[in-house]
Amino acid sequence: MSGLLVVMAHPDDESMATGGLILRHTREGIEVNLICATRGEKGWGGKPPGARKEDLAQIRTDELEAAASALAITAYELWDYPDGGVEVSDQSEITERIRRQISSHAPAVVVGWGPDGVYGHPDHIAMGRCTDAAVAAIPEPNRPALYHVAVDAPLADFYREALKLNGQDQDALPLVVKDHVDLVLELTPEEVQMKLRAIDCHQSQLEIWRLEIRNHPHLLQQGYGREPYMALSQVAPALTAAGLLGEFA
Ligand SMILES: [Zn+2]
Repeated sequence: MSGLLVVMAHPDDESMATGGLILRHTREGIEVNLICATRGEKGWGGKPPGARKEDLAQIRTDELEAAASALAITAYELWDYPDGGVEVSDQSEITERIRRQISSHAPAVVVGWGPDGVYGHPDHIAMGRCTDAAVAAIPEPNRPALYHVAVDAPLADFYREALKLNGQDQDALPLVVKDHVDLVLELTPEEVQMKLRAIDCHQSQLEIWRLEIRNHPHLLQQGYGREPYMALSQVAPALTAAGLLGEFA
């Protein structure tokens, strides 16, 4: 058992939610594999300039390929579940497909969405539930440690500030803020720049604040430089305080 398996719902989740965790491992030569359940074809925002709405699935497929390369991800699976429709898709099929990926990669750690989906996104919640079930279906002692993406109070403060850059209501994003998280990955400025390059691959998804934030280095560090996680299991080897798999720390 070694490396990470990251299980997400949309192209961009991997960079925006877990980009730092992925980079910290791939930069050490540790294998990181990714599953993305949908092509994000519902996420039309009129970008990038000249794009056509009917091409969005292909645009986001290409964006994920570029981001996976920027994060030096070992391999990824991009599935064709409908964007916005993961919860009405065959849950046992999704669970079984994730379980098979776990069996073939034998990761030490699986990272997925928690039951809050960070801001209640139904695709995140459904993928998280299937990921939890897939991990639970792996018999001990081969079961990987499980982590969920989370938001803590400092990260929630960042989103409020960032949304102000959009001229948007501070509560436009209904974040579920945890009182306690088990691990906070604090990225170096260099790691933040590398994560930013991966996020920037998702041109179709860059809100105004994600462009504007470059002019606010302290905000960039506060938000992109912070990745909180919940630990769902205590089986070793798990991530250390430095956010690395224990065996490599
Ligand atoms: Zn998402």
